[in-house]
Formats: sequence, structure tokens, C-alpha cells
Amino acid sequence: MTQAPNVHDAEPIPEAARAEIDRLLQSGDLFRYTAPQDAPVSLLEREFAAFMGSTYALAVSSCSAALFLSLKALGLPRGARVLIPGFTFAAVPSSVVHADCQPVLCEVGEDYRIDIEDFTKRLNENIAAVIVSHMRGHTSDMDAIMALCDAHDIPVIEDAAHSLGTLWDGRKIGTIGKVGCFSFQSYKLVNAGEGGIMVTDDADLVAQAVIMSGAYEHNWAKHMAGDDPALASAFARWQNKLPLYNLRLSNLGAAIIRPQLAEVPRRVRDGRANHDYVAERLNTSPFLHVPPKLAKEDRAPDSIQFNLVDLSDDEARHFAEAAAARGVKVQVFGQSTDNARAFWNWQFIPGPAPELPRTRAMLMRACDCRLPARLTRDELDFIALTLLDAAQDAVGGVRAYGT
Ligand SMILES: *Cc1c(COP(=O)(O)O)cnc(C)c1O
Repeated sequence: MTQAPNVHDAEPIPEAARAEIDRLLQSGDLFRYTAPQDAPVSLLEREFAAFMGSTYALAVSSCSAALFLSLKALGLPRGARVLIPGFTFAAVPSSVVHADCQPVLCEVGEDYRIDIEDFTKRLNENIAAVIVSHMRGHTSDMDAIMALCDAHDIPVIEDAAHSLGTLWDGRKIGTIGKVGCFSFQSYKLVNAGEGGIMVTDDADLVAQAVIMSGAYEHNWAKHMAGDDPALASAFARWQNKLPLYNLRLSNLGAAIIRPQLAEVPRRVRDGRANHDYVAERLNTSPFLHVPPKLAKEDRAPDSIQFNLVDLSDDEARHFAEAAAARGVKVQVFGQSTDNARAFWNWQFIPGPAPELPRTRAMLMRACDCRLPARLTRDELDFIALTLLDAAQDAVGGVRAYGT
């Protein structure tokens, strides 16, 4: 193979979605609360809750909206401090600011996971809630995090945007904290262009989130499946007490998502096999290192992250350029301008700019490369070989000629 694989196109949407979309276009029934019951969004919620083994699911316009509603539904006062990892997507601190809370950042190690020592220390700094962001699907030590947060009685929100299908000690990521949030944006495992969903077992929390998501008047009744006195009394308690932020999902989004849920196990299996195959090849280079997963983690990756070992800034830049010249796009998180995953670009966070030396050092050498589940062995070989050659080039070229 001489052509670089296309890693940006998503998989085609399953054929089953077409008939349903056509039906919706015919009837014009696009709003989730028009039908008396069984709207596509409601069916998606029921199917997703069952898929996750959660009591409740609420589909919304994005994972950011789900994170925002989770924070609001926790009833945090204005200015409450929310602990988040220093390595995540800008959507996470943004959702905290959107909820009128203050993001507090903790260090992330070279393996892209929360530094438990730093997390422990910061948990004592008047923290009201924690968002664990499983960045790029890397799962932090959930045993340690839950034990610490439970001991402090601090609620945990899981940002599982990139962790659909990931397991921790056999449990589904997104169901370990009080609430789990997922994304259906195009670069995630299930693609609807836009969309998000939250899962929880907490009736009081979901009732608030449902109302705030835009279930005005008595539309919350369409979230009641069967007899659920706890949920019914929570809706009664919160009726007319909460603002309506209108962050709903449309029936079209649900129609695109529903048939993809059946594809998740295959995408997880193929994504993991692809990742592990490329990881093993990259780890043969003295200049590249893919950190191992944690023992209790079963991953569901659709991209690969690796660190450049003992490369200078120049060599790191040269590496990305050499890979790009061969058609493989790699981002060194901290070296690409305006990267939304570099904490120093989150300048919208109120107060003094946070400094996280460990996280910064990691970001300056950590690389990101897309690896969708649909890639063939040949395409994986092309990517792995390109990265190995680019590393050799970068080190050879820069060290020989001092460019
Ligand atoms: C994509 C992503 C988000 C945001 O999801 P949206 O649905 O686009 O709002 C949040 N966190 C992480 C880790 C993500 O990868």
C-alpha cells in the first residue's frame, strides 16, 4: 500500500436508519414530545439505559450539555469548586464554567491518567464535585477515586464521551460514578453528528436534569416508563422550580443513533485489536512508547496515544512533520497551536492560570493519532510503519544535521 489511509471518515450509518428517517420526514414528527409515547428519543433512552444496565437515561444535544445538566442537578452553589483532570477536552472546564462553578485542575501522569497523589491532595481543597474525564478512553484508577470521593462524600460525574464500551473491573464506565455522560459527536464510537446522553440510578438527579433539559409543563410524564414512585415524586417536587435550558435531542438524532447501538460490541472489539496491534509495533522503537493500560481496564479505543521518548522539542516537531509528509497526521498535544486539550489554552477559567508541571511535560511529548475501528491490517501497517520511520527520521535528521 502506498496511499495513506483516510482516518477521518466515519462508518456509513446502518441502513436501518434510512427507513426511520424517511418515516420521520414524511410525518414531520421531529420533536421528542409531539408523539404521545414511544418517540424515537424516548426509545433511545430506554435502549441505552438497558444497554448500560442503568435505571435512567436522558438524551440531550451533546455530552457538554449532559455534563452541564449533571452539575446543575447536583444543586451546586455558584462558585462551587469542581475538580477535573488537567488533561481533557476544553468542553469539560467549559461545562463547569457554564454551570457557574469553578474548575480546579489536578495533575495527569505520563500514562494520561489522573495522578492519584495530586488528586488526593486537591480533594481537600474545598471540592464540591469531581468530573473524572476518561480522556481518549484512558480510564483512571476508579477504585482509588471512588474510595476517596466516597470518604469525602463528594459526588463523581464520569465524562465517558470517549469510553462507550470500556470496562473497569468488569463494570461499564459511565455507571461507576453518580452519573455518566456520553457523546454522539462524529469522532466518538457512535456518530450522530451531534448528541449526548447521561445515565444514572438517581431518580432525584434525573428528574431535575429532565426538566432542565426542556421538559416543560408535564412533558416529564413521557419519561415515566411504568410505575416508579421515586421518579414520580421527584418530578412533582421539581415541577416549576427549575429553569428550562432546552438542550433536547431531536428524533432525527435518535433515529441515527439507535441502529448503531448494535454495532458497539464489534466496534469495541475491532478498535481494541487495531490499537493493540499498532501499539505493539510502536513499542519496538526506542523513541516511541505506548503506556500500558491499567490491569482492571478493558479499553474501547478509536485512536492511539503514545509518548516520544527522549526527543527534543525540535525533534518532536520534526517527527510530526515527517509523519504528515507521508500522509499520517499526528498531533503532539502540547506542540500544536491552540490545542483544545492543552490546559494553558483554557484561558476562560476565572482566576490565576493553573500550573501543572507534570501534565505540561506529558503534553509536550504525548502524541495523538486517529485509528478508527474500520481500518484494515494493511492500513494499520501503513500507519505503524510511517510513525516508526518518522521517529527514525526525526532523531536521525535533527541529530545528524542539527536542524
Ligand atoms: C468529545 C468530548 C467531549 C464533548 O462532547 P460533545 O458531545 O462534543 O459536547 C467531552 N469530553 C471528552 C473527553 C470528549 O472527547
